[in-house]
Amino acid sequence: MEITWDGILGHAVQVGQLKKLVREGRLPHALLFTGPAGVGKRRIAEALAATLLCGQGEQACGRCAGCIALQEDTHPDFYRIVPAGTGKAAKIIRIDQIRAMQSEIARLPLLADKRVVLIDEAEKMNEAAENSLLKTLEEPTGRVNFILITSQRSGLLDTILSRCMQMSFGTLPRKMLAAELVRRGLPETQATGLAALSDGSIGGALRLEQDDGLVLRDTALTFLTEVKSFDMEHIWAKAEELGNMPREKLLEWLAYLVMLLRDFLVLYNGGKSLYNEDLREKLVQILADFPVRRVFLWLGLVSLMQKRCLANVNLRLQMEGFLIRAHEI
Ligand SMILES: [Zn+2]
Repeated sequence: MEITWDGILGHAVQVGQLKKLVREGRLPHALLFTGPAGVGKRRIAEALAATLLCGQGEQACGRCAGCIALQEDTHPDFYRIVPAGTGKAAKIIRIDQIRAMQSEIARLPLLADKRVVLIDEAEKMNEAAENSLLKTLEEPTGRVNFILITSQRSGLLDTILSRCMQMSFGTLPRKMLAAELVRRGLPETQATGLAALSDGSIGGALRLEQDDGLVLRDTALTFLTEVKSFDMEHIWAKAEELGNMPREKLLEWLAYLVMLLRDFLVLYNGGKSLYNEDLREKLVQILADFPVRRVFLWLGLVSLMQKRCLANVNLRLQMEGFLIRAHEI
C-alpha cells in the first residue's frame, strides 16, 4: 500500500489536522472517517497508519523495516478488516473477524511500538460484531489505534460513534478530479467527462474508466432515444437482457438514465454544467424529442424502478413493466 501523504488528492484540512494530532501526541485511539465512497478516505487512513507505525514524526520515513513491510503489505502490527462473503450473499463483517483481531492485538506488537487496526466499510459489521468491537473500544488493551472507515455513518451504532473521533471527508472538486485523471494519462475530454459523471469521487471516476462505465452510459442514451420505436418482441428481448444484469450494474444503468434526463432539464435552463458535457451536441440534437413534461414522466418511472431494484424483487418481471411504460411515455 501507499504509505506517504504525498499524492493524496484534496482534503488538505483533514490531512493537516491529522498530522498536527500526531505531532502533538494527541491522536485519539479511535477515529472514524466518514464521507462518500471513493473520495480517498482509505488512502488517508493508510498514510496515517504508516505514520503511526513508523513512529518518526508526522510522516512515515519510507526506509525503516516497518515502512518497507507496510509497502509490501506484510507488516505484522497492521491489521485490516474488510467485509467478507461468499457467492451472492451480501458481504458483512462478522463477529469472528472482530474476535480474531482482538486475540491478535492482545499480544505485543512485533515491529512497531503499537498496533493499528483499520476497519474498512465499518457499517457492514453486523450487530454482534459491533457489540464485540465496542468492548474493545471501551477498554483498549495495550497500544492500539483504531481507524474505522464508512460511507454510511447511520449504519453504525450510536455507542460506536460516541467512542470515536469523527472526521468527515467531502467530495472532490470536478476540476481537481479531471486534472488527476489527465495526470494518470487520460485524454482531456474523457477526463472532463468522467470527472463530471463521478460526482466528486476519484474512485468512482476510475471505476467508470475501468469498467467501461461510458459504454453503459451510451447504451442508456440509445435506449432513451429508441425505446419509443420498439415492437413487442424487442421489448421482451430488452427486458430479458436488462433483467439478467447484475443488480448493481442495472442500478448504475438507471443512474445514467437519470443523469441524461437531468441534462435535458439543464439544457432547458441555459445548459450550464451538464453531467454529460461530452455528449452536449448529441443531447441538443434530440432535445426536441424530450419536452419537459416527458422528461418528468421518465424521471418518475426511473425513480420507481430504482426503488424496486433495491427491494428483493424479480428483476426480469419488473423490467418488462418498466419497458412497456417507457415505450408509452
Ligand atoms: Zn519508517
